Amino acid sequence: MTKPENQNQSLDGELLAQFVSLVGEPYALFQEEDKRKFLVEWRDKYVGSSPLVLLPGSVEEVSAIVKLAAETKTALVPQGGNTGLVGGQIPDHQNRQIVVSLNRMNKVRSISPLSNSMVVDAGVTLLEAQQEALSNDRLFPLSLASEGSCQIGGNISSNAGGIQVLKYGMMRDLVLGLEVVLPSGEIWHGLTDLRKDNTGYDLKHLFMGAEGTLGIITAATLKLFPKPLERQVGFVGCTSLEQLSEFFNFVSGETGSFLSAFEMICRTGVEFVLKHGSQSQEPLDAVFPWYGLIELESTKEGLLGGFLEDVLGRALERGFIEDGVISSSEAQRKNLWALREEMSEMQKPEGGSIKHDVSVPVAAIPQFIKQGNELVERMIPGARPVPFGHFGDGNIHYNISQPVDMDKQAFLEQWEPLSNAVYDLVLEFGGSISAEHGIGVMKRDLLAEKKSSVEMNLMRTIKQSLDPDNIMNPGKVF
Ligand code: FAD
Ligand code: ZN
Repeated sequence: MTKPENQNQSLDGELLAQFVSLVGEPYALFQEEDKRKFLVEWRDKYVGSSPLVLLPGSVEEVSAIVKLAAETKTALVPQGGNTGLVGGQIPDHQNRQIVVSLNRMNKVRSISPLSNSMVVDAGVTLLEAQQEALSNDRLFPLSLASEGSCQIGGNISSNAGGIQVLKYGMMRDLVLGLEVVLPSGEIWHGLTDLRKDNTGYDLKHLFMGAEGTLGIITAATLKLFPKPLERQVGFVGCTSLEQLSEFFNFVSGETGSFLSAFEMICRTGVEFVLKHGSQSQEPLDAVFPWYGLIELESTKEGLLGGFLEDVLGRALERGFIEDGVISSSEAQRKNLWALREEMSEMQKPEGGSIKHDVSVPVAAIPQFIKQGNELVERMIPGARPVPFGHFGDGNIHYNISQPVDMDKQAFLEQWEPLSNAVYDLVLEFGGSISAEHGIGVMKRDLLAEKKSSVEMNLMRTIKQSLDPDNIMNPGKVF
């Protein structure tokens, strides 16, 4: 990839002053204490340095920043809510990349309940977008644990997933149009709300999942859906993943479009949550190695209670589950979800955790996890696999907690060899090394290694033609 010519020089004061003048001094951060929250991600895993953080207030200001960057070959790092898990939103250590935060571009521009669409600035948080839709009797279905902080622009750039992908798709599926500042500084006004538009290449898909390497998204037209009036959760226990898989097959057929989530949790994970989390009660009378959490939703009230009970009853009779419970109140629904949602956080008190966000075909999940667990035991005897995640999407968060008596550092030193073996297994099953978190810097080298040269060359060709000087988030993805 071509590097900016000035990549080995630090940015001079005059150039920085020009950038500052484009947004106004109050919105240009120089001081270390002001910049800090933009340069560190929440886990402290990625820490970068930057001479300047810019907070533009309009698409015109973003365009002016990018034009100046293009002229001077200055690298830019677009940033949304800074909740990304692969380091894509953090500049490198060279103190030459300018962070462009979308925080101030946080308005809902318009909403059309009749067209089921809404136009929002890129800096609107996911939670604000959801709330705006709800207050207009509509649903914006993307749902992530980070929704209070992550932004629509970040969600689009990372093609976020989450817990309702089974019914509504990933972020990519929820966008009708985009407004993007291209690496030249030109603005692409693509904020259509057309459902059908076959006029050549569908350009918006270039920028979705591009992790800020092809331009800065400044606004989006989002798809809205009817607002569900009722939700019901079922929590079931199974003796094997094969059984859980049969239950998934059964429940998908029985519940059709009512089914909005099908999540999987392993016993080890449940134990971690019971020990460290807000939940202290066993979800079911007996203990099972595998649990499934399903959610049904309906736009008509009063339909679901009896329906879910009937489905679970028949699943029990036919041997697809061993036991099950249904939420009888909103509080109980939240409690059951907490078992799944606290899964990531509650691995922390158990020491080191080596994490993988991978996907395999849904039918291959039982075999993948079986072989994965055998592989882990061979490489680090006593290590504790904690697989959980979006079973219905084939997306497993294949996390491994350290053996109880092992030194944390010694365990974490095994990250690379262990992950390499896990990723090779994923590929053997026809899976993906990144299901929903993206590539960023974390998986950059891995991507080049594991993806075919045809695919890598195609991606490089696109990057090169849109951003020949590599000013847009250099060092990420490639
Ligand atoms: P950032 O972290 O700021 O940026 C992410 C990437 O997008 C970076 O490469 C950045 O350069 C680029 N970018 C940001 N804004 C723009 C823009 N306007 N234009 C161009 N490029 C831009 N992810 C999931 O998919 N599913 C989950 O279930 C999930 N759960 C999470 C739970 C927690 C507790 C946390 C902390 C994270 C979770 N994530 C999850 C990851 C993260 O929240 C998502 O990737 C989210 O979409 C990132 O949005 P953001 O606004 O924080 O983006
Ligand atoms: Zn997830």
